Amino acid sequence: MVSIKNEYKSFLDDIEKNIKNKEDLEYIKKRFADFLEVVIEKMDYILDYKEEEMNKLEEKQNQIEAKISSMQKMIDNIENDIYSEDGYDFEITCPYCNYEFIIDVDETKTEVQCPECKNMIELDWGNDTPDNKDEDDDM
Ligand SMILES: [Zn+2]
Repeated sequence: MVSIKNEYKSFLDDIEKNIKNKEDLEYIKKRFADFLEVVIEKMDYILDYKEEEMNKLEEKQNQIEAKISSMQKMIDNIENDIYSEDGYDFEITCPYCNYEFIIDVDETKTEVQCPECKNMIELDWGNDTPDNKDEDDDM
């Protein structure tokens, strides 16, 4: 704002030096003062508007941060679910000796040895193939 004041003063000095007709000078001074009033009013308006925009942006930013933190919580929960499923144990009852034991879920394994009678037990993870079904029916 200081520089605008300086500019205004140098503008007035300049026209006073260069316009010899006193009536013209007064007219230009007044006309320019009117113009300057509008400019200053507009500048105030723009500054207010900017401040309002900044407040809105800040509010949006806060909302986004809240959303991100609630999404982070959801992701953490999903990770916990996946992790606890990884650590899920599968209980097996041996069909040969009825010995019960626990193995880690591993769907790539198709059979496991009974630690008691050493027989191989076929594993059924719930999505059996038709072959497994037939064998069950035969027994
Ligand atoms: Zn067994």
